[in-house]
Amino acid sequence: MAKASQRIQRITGGGSDGWDLFYRAKDLIRSGVEVIELTIGEHDVKTDPAILDAMREAARAGHTGYASIPGIVELRQAVAERTERLTGVPTRAENVIVTPGGQAALFATHQFVGDPGDRALFVDPYYATYPGTIRSAGLEPVPVTARAEAGFEPLEEDLADAAEGARSVLVNSPNNPTGVVYSERTLRGLQRVAEARDLWVISDEVYDSQVWEGRHLSPRALPGMEARTLVIGSLSKSHAMTGSRLGWVVGPEEAIEWLWDLSTVSNYGIPGFIQDAGVFALAQGPEYEERIAAPFARRREITQRLLAGQNVVRAAPQRGAMYAMLDVRATGLSGEGFALQLLEEERIAVLPGESFGSAGAGHVRIAMTVADEVYEAAVRKVLELAARLAAERARSGAHLPQIG
Ligand code: PMP
Repeated sequence: MAKASQRIQRITGGGSDGWDLFYRAKDLIRSGVEVIELTIGEHDVKTDPAILDAMREAARAGHTGYASIPGIVELRQAVAERTERLTGVPTRAENVIVTPGGQAALFATHQFVGDPGDRALFVDPYYATYPGTIRSAGLEPVPVTARAEAGFEPLEEDLADAAEGARSVLVNSPNNPTGVVYSERTLRGLQRVAEARDLWVISDEVYDSQVWEGRHLSPRALPGMEARTLVIGSLSKSHAMTGSRLGWVVGPEEAIEWLWDLSTVSNYGIPGFIQDAGVFALAQGPEYEERIAAPFARRREITQRLLAGQNVVRAAPQRGAMYAMLDVRATGLSGEGFALQLLEEERIAVLPGESFGSAGAGHVRIAMTVADEVYEAAVRKVLELAARLAAERARSGAHLPQIG
């Protein structure tokens, strides 16, 4: 074949994507082994049949032609209303562009904020696609470490140190993989750095319907931040519509107009019947979103209860999103080593924290995406394995870190 561009070759960064364990679990399942799969952020329920009926009706009624490129006005309006309700920031349809999922919104915003060679910050641990998305725009991805010891929230001084010459900073709260919801203090620090360096803030809020403790605060809601914040949203998590690929960017009207140009030359709009289903889904209101989030709220309680009964495994503050990020360093193993042993011995698949960046080292991420009883039994096994490994380590005389 003729040559592939340097740009496309740079997307993966050349190395392993850290998802080896996920593929190993899939291979085991394919070969007939029963594995409890706690790797991927996908609900254990399918998209609601009522939403599918709305999709079918829209298609049968003829909404099958090219749809308006930035999104049908009804959907842009519905997203604007949801945003205003959740954040208090006045938002109009003109502040919204519909994209094929939150991922395409991450892609589009990074195309918009900088030029090839510019620095684009993101917080480590991070959602797996972030560095590749940044590189695909020719930007240089610059990780800012959010340490476990700092509750996985990025510190203002670390952001400031990395921000010179940067064009943007990508944050994600509620956070995948850590489950952390950023405090107002963290967001104020972010604001000071963004203002001092004239950065765009790209705020990935796809988990805004999954908050278990405290309150989700959007950086766009801080006074003065609206003009430099691009919010990424999606119906994937809030409405169990991952396969419908419905997401959006909320931002200043002028930015949305530039993103419209990008849409024209990339996806050229989203299927109209899927957008109609999105309008129907959003019309079900906040109670519906709570219903979709409820199983994760329950499993988060299960996790907290089980963690409270032991003192080997620590956990990141589990304030939001559908994951538990467990610190298994007391076992003496890396996150990857622990996850491999868990898969081999207990047939439970979780992702090593290292898959989400260096700040996730020594952790594993558990997706709370199986039925409550199965989930509870799996977490018990995880904790038992950790306790056994830590005890063996203590017997062998290795130094145990202080767990308080
Ligand atoms: N951001 C984060 C933090 C995610 O976890 C995901 C999906 N797992 C996405 C964005 C993209 O979601 P989608 O494209 O399905 O909207």
